Amino acid sequence: MRGRPMLLLLAFLLLFGCARSGEPKEARTQFLAMDTVMTFRAYGDSGAEALSAAERAVYRLEAALSTELEESEIYAVNDGGVGVVGEDARIVLECALTVYRETGGAFDITIYPLMRAWGFRSGEYRVPGDAELSALHALVGSDGVTLSGNTVTLKRPGSGIDLGAIGKGYASDAAAAAIRAEGVSSAILSLGGNVYAVGKRPDGSDWLVAIQDPFEQSEMVGAVAVSDMAVVTSGGYQRFFIENGKRYHHIIDPRTGRPSESGLASVTVICDSGMMADALSTALFVLGEEGAIAHWRAHSGEFDAVLVTDEGAVLVTQGLEGRFSGAEHTILLREAGPGRAFNQNA
Ligand code: AMP
Ligand code: MG
Repeated sequence: MRGRPMLLLLAFLLLFGCARSGEPKEARTQFLAMDTVMTFRAYGDSGAEALSAAERAVYRLEAALSTELEESEIYAVNDGGVGVVGEDARIVLECALTVYRETGGAFDITIYPLMRAWGFRSGEYRVPGDAELSALHALVGSDGVTLSGNTVTLKRPGSGIDLGAIGKGYASDAAAAAIRAEGVSSAILSLGGNVYAVGKRPDGSDWLVAIQDPFEQSEMVGAVAVSDMAVVTSGGYQRFFIENGKRYHHIIDPRTGRPSESGLASVTVICDSGMMADALSTALFVLGEEGAIAHWRAHSGEFDAVLVTDEGAVLVTQGLEGRFSGAEHTILLREAGPGRAFNQNA
């Protein structure tokens, strides 16, 4: 009997890495922020302090960027049509407006009135009627958002902005920066569909980030080997409701005001900026296969992507060659070439 607690303690120490000599200490934290369960792990002597700093950074950003917290900067802009925002919100808005322009409006933070109409903000899901959608559609368009210094103005009365497709990515960058500032060079941060890999694993190898199978979430379509990179997935399976047998998900096609039906089941974007990866994964999801490939070809040095189509095809951009493993029937997308037609490597 007396031996048992000691055994348990030993097992605990082994599991959490404190007892193994030569291996760095592991610290973990899990918390709820931005409507998401976040799990962070860091290695090294200052791991625990680094994770506290990272968690504080995420809460600070949630307080600035949330559409629902009445004290947030974005809430004030939506409420009054104009507002002065802090540096974080300004950076996020600037990126959002750039991606809006570069994707022909597929990425559009002014979908907020639509998100509310579909019930994605309150959780009281409903399918709005055609007349309601077309009335709300008149409020949508990031051309109606002006950012002048730190002042944000919404041109269309009744419109609103929603940073749900980009805020967590920016939060992952801020969390990674907070961790590095504490002298930690090995950490892995999971913010729902947003993962950020800080440095390498404690053994010096790349982090391996799994990409969920959008049709079977306990499975994965593959994994990417990365270091100092964000790996961000957008998918219709991540948030949705079902009405009369039809599935309605949370990524809205700004052209129709309805959940995007672009033929893609998920899009994962890999690049060194979590903010950009987050915005792009949503944008490419709306653009669909052809548009996503065209956008990647026009910006191929800037990011890589894994596209999963509604038919289950897995398309991987050229920069991931040798870094993506898993799916047997991967189609490699080359920088030059006619879509995916002649690039099969299955
Ligand atoms: P993500 O999971 O990053 O793809 O973001 C999805 C969230 O972004 C939604 O829950 C909305 O808050 C917001 N959103 C939906 N559609 C769009 C869109 N077309 N452009 C920008 N944000 C969007
Ligand atoms: Mg996104």
